Amino acid sequence: MRPDILNPLFSEVQSLKGVGPRLNKPLERLKLQRVKDMLYHFPNSFTHRNYRETLDISDVGQHIIIKISVINIRNGHNYRSPLRIIGEDKNGDTVSLIFFGKNAGWAKKQLPMESQRIISGKLEQYGDELQIVHPDHISEYKSDSPQGDSSESQEKPSVPLVEPIYPLSEGITNGRLVQLVKEALAIRPQMEEWIEPSLLKKKEWKSWHESIVDMHSEYNENAHDRLAYDELLANQITMQLVRAEMDNRKCLPIKGDDRLTKMLQLPFEMTGAQKRVIGEIKGDLEQSRPMLRLLQGDVGSGKTIVALMALLQCVESGYQGAFLAPTEILARQHFANLQQILAPLPVNIAILTGRDKGKVREATLMGLADGTIDIIIGTHAIFQEAVTYKNLAMAIIDEQHKFGVSQRLMLTKKGRGVPHLLVMTATPIPRTLALACYGEMDVSQLDELPPGRTPIDTVVMPDSRMDDIIRGLERHLSAGKQAFWVCPLIEQSSSGKAAAEVRAEMLQKHFGDKVGIVHGRMKNQDKDKVMESFVNKEILLLVATTVIEVGVDVPNASLMIVEAADSFGLAQLHQLRGRVGRGSEKSICLLIRSEELSETAHARLSLMRKSNDGFEIAEEDLNLRGAGEMIGTRQSGGSPFQVADDTHVRALLSTAADDAKLLVQRDGGLSGTRGDAVRILLYLFERDAGVATLRSG
Ligand code: ADP
Ligand code: MG
Repeated sequence: MRPDILNPLFSEVQSLKGVGPRLNKPLERLKLQRVKDMLYHFPNSFTHRNYRETLDISDVGQHIIIKISVINIRNGHNYRSPLRIIGEDKNGDTVSLIFFGKNAGWAKKQLPMESQRIISGKLEQYGDELQIVHPDHISEYKSDSPQGDSSESQEKPSVPLVEPIYPLSEGITNGRLVQLVKEALAIRPQMEEWIEPSLLKKKEWKSWHESIVDMHSEYNENAHDRLAYDELLANQITMQLVRAEMDNRKCLPIKGDDRLTKMLQLPFEMTGAQKRVIGEIKGDLEQSRPMLRLLQGDVGSGKTIVALMALLQCVESGYQGAFLAPTEILARQHFANLQQILAPLPVNIAILTGRDKGKVREATLMGLADGTIDIIIGTHAIFQEAVTYKNLAMAIIDEQHKFGVSQRLMLTKKGRGVPHLLVMTATPIPRTLALACYGEMDVSQLDELPPGRTPIDTVVMPDSRMDDIIRGLERHLSAGKQAFWVCPLIEQSSSGKAAAEVRAEMLQKHFGDKVGIVHGRMKNQDKDKVMESFVNKEILLLVATTVIEVGVDVPNASLMIVEAADSFGLAQLHQLRGRVGRGSEKSICLLIRSEELSETAHARLSLMRKSNDGFEIAEEDLNLRGAGEMIGTRQSGGSPFQVADDTHVRALLSTAADDAKLLVQRDGGLSGTRGDAVRILLYLFERDAGVATLRSG
């Protein structure tokens, strides 16, 4: 249950004064549902106003506050000729106050002839005239002031000198948001400090209570840092709690005796990185505390064989192991591959996917229940309710980014006790973010590619050169070599067809039945059939959506063409590129870009040309994003954070990680004084998963 102290923050924005149904839509668009969201809706910038006694051309471009008398009113007729109200400063210099459209009537009431007013707005120059379009404040000036003109005390308070400018949406004004944020701030609670006191002091951070106000008052890096740290800390404590929960559980230690791994005959020598990682996993498996390890390795770094070694260690000890793939195609490919490698060994391997039905499925389920199957490969199907295992001791998840944390947790419920867990990913998450996304795991890196690979050439071409591209493709195919052609996921609106279908039709005109197509809307069976003909070289050119992004291995395919490459994420492009360069042939990745490219898009594509290193690409991609731009979603391999931006992650995440570790070591039940405060922090950031482990444990 959420602590009561947070209730005001989690109440709906509708509970704030004056939020009627008309604001529902805009607030929804801005994702401002609760009072808390309002507080974390930070300004983009601030308007700074300067108080001026007289008009001055050198103030053009500035927001000024000035006292004027109205000396003339010129009615407008339409948009071209708006209402102009001429104001005069104390020296007799003039400024035109311009009002378009329906603001005019209101303005005339506010600014009658000969009235004296304090106005503010951005001073502009129009020909020889000074003007202010739509002054943002107009208030009366009491001319009977005993102190005379220069008394600031009665003029300044009516207009704020600094005003936050918020991200807006149609139907809501900045003024309205300013007011709502003010109301939200007024009901914010005082909470015990959850940040470690010495850190707070060292960074000179203020309390949450003060910092959240500061964020809305004036740009304040210090306050932003503090609030970002809160989020990072909540994230890291959650990770540490999950980790601690796992560490407390018992599982089957897997000793292994090398009996099976010795029988393995591989056509290659393991790389140094593979040997090292296999050692790290072996060490984990021997413990009675469950392994929780992430294996990161660029495409083609040889993760599958590492997985196999772990599975064999498991079988040597008399247990079962499961290997989970994200797609049917990949599951089948792994199965075919491993079945072949394991043929000479006394190991029973089987496959189970959603497609297996009837007797075959029954037999597999039996084999898993009675232990005759040693290794099971499959999709999600292997962890459905109906599937029981005799003694599952380890699960390996391939290409993790298709699986969320909840699925990770689901896995842990299947074994006798908790199975050891190895998660493998080629998604090049920047080192800085790995901690945030997988902080609860130990990380192994395959940072070395097997020898003898010819590097892939990456070429970028505009789509206006389509004819040249087709001619090049023709040469490639007539030499008996294969190619991929990847299209983005969009539909061609008029025909309702996927872009890939339209492209395939066009390419079939050129290359006839050498062209095959796979896309997401096809039945799995049909997809597999096409993939099979591609592997068997009946099809030479495979047009596809990103369904082929992960894992698929066809060594004879040495050309990867990506259409509308600028619409893909860099991590995705890198994954796609990794589909080629698997044979001895020199491989090419051709990125087709649209004619008009933004500067960033340009930089991103040339980064693809320059680098073949997934980690470097991910890291640079992060740098290329503009400061104001939100970091991408978790799915695209980006940041899971809303408050903390990339700079915060770099500067503060490891501190948060250390602090979280220490805290959970000392007070894993979060029952001490700081523990209480931290619980509130976790609820504030809705890290319910973390709190849930406390309840069960
Ligand atoms: P990924 O890490 O992308 O899953 P794979 O495990 O599919 O990579 O390996 C890519 C290819 O490299 C496979 O054909 C595999 O047999 C081969 N391979 C793996 N390890 C080595 C090695 N040490 N030396 C040579 N080839 C290897
Ligand atoms: Mg793989």
